[in-house]
Amino acid sequence: MPFRSGFVCILGRPNAGKSTLLNALVGEKLAIISPRPQTTRNRIQGIVHVPKRKVRGGKERDGGQIVLIDTPGVHKPDSSLGRKMIVEVREALEACDLVLVIMDVTHKLDPRDQFAVDMLKKCGAKAFLILNKVDLIREKAKLLPLIESYRKLHEFKEVLPISALKRTGLDGLLNLVIAELPAGPAYFPEDQITDQPARFMAAETIREQILMNTMEEIPYAATVIVDNFEEGARLTRIAATIYCEREGQKRILIGKGGSMLKKIGTSARLQIERMMGTKVFLELYVKVQPGWRDSRAFVEELDWRRQLEQRMWGQKNKEQLAAANASNETSRLS
Ligand code: GDP
Ligand code: MG
Repeated sequence: MPFRSGFVCILGRPNAGKSTLLNALVGEKLAIISPRPQTTRNRIQGIVHVPKRKVRGGKERDGGQIVLIDTPGVHKPDSSLGRKMIVEVREALEACDLVLVIMDVTHKLDPRDQFAVDMLKKCGAKAFLILNKVDLIREKAKLLPLIESYRKLHEFKEVLPISALKRTGLDGLLNLVIAELPAGPAYFPEDQITDQPARFMAAETIREQILMNTMEEIPYAATVIVDNFEEGARLTRIAATIYCEREGQKRILIGKGGSMLKKIGTSARLQIERMMGTKVFLELYVKVQPGWRDSRAFVEELDWRRQLEQRMWGQKNKEQLAAANASNETSRLS
């Protein structure tokens, strides 16, 4: 029985339940979940370790490792940030072994679903259709015709009804996903559930608290950059800046006598403490950066993944240089 592994992309329009599914499969809170759409701005990788085990009919399920990639909600881009998100989705789709297209069964199909399916057809990846939120459908008899209508959209390998929130149908989903993946190595050690740097998770946690505590345009106008992150055995020191677009937003974010910032800071700190397993000292600042969403440079600066890649490339170049030097040495020796 081979060990199977691969990259699985979760695709769907905003609010379909992608982050909820990712978190349910990984078993811990990873991606931020919010009742407002478009809160996942970066690809989040969750890692699911699936043990080998008996399934129905005495057959055995292969063990494996699923690396999940949560994509930002797919939508037609309307700003620099939006366009960047679409590029990320494309990159993710092209590199994965299987796509899980997730749709909210309580919503009628609309052009945004078609947009997601079109992207899928273009990249030619294998895909399952996941019909989410079936817990909200009272008459289960309505599901079958619904499944049939969704099947017409695309040649999906499987169409599965689930509830990410209530965690129903997830075991069956895991079995099918594993069966679809190629034989391969475990890419990550078993105790690892994400490749996200803690620093990035801290920024996401602060952003989540902004979402939870503020209204209307504030969540979309605000972004968080961690300026300093010092991890100690007992205490983690974090300094972060919340960027918004206007003075009025800054006032709201700070609140009367600093009350809002305190609220955001305290709840974020408690969550980060849980994540880090240390005490956390969190300093938060608010700054106005007009039009940051449309500033390409700023959006790119935000991208932790880019920063990591650059760091990795730096490392690789150094290694290649060292290897090249070493082979020069040998040719000189021979
Ligand atoms: P995303 O934008 O696709 O990542 O969606 P989220 O995972 O952030 O979920 C959006 C909203 O739908 C949240 O309020 C979730 O709690 C809710 N939700 C997700 N999955 C389910 C489900 O299976 N059943 C129900 N009833 N709600 C769900
Ligand atoms: Mg999400």
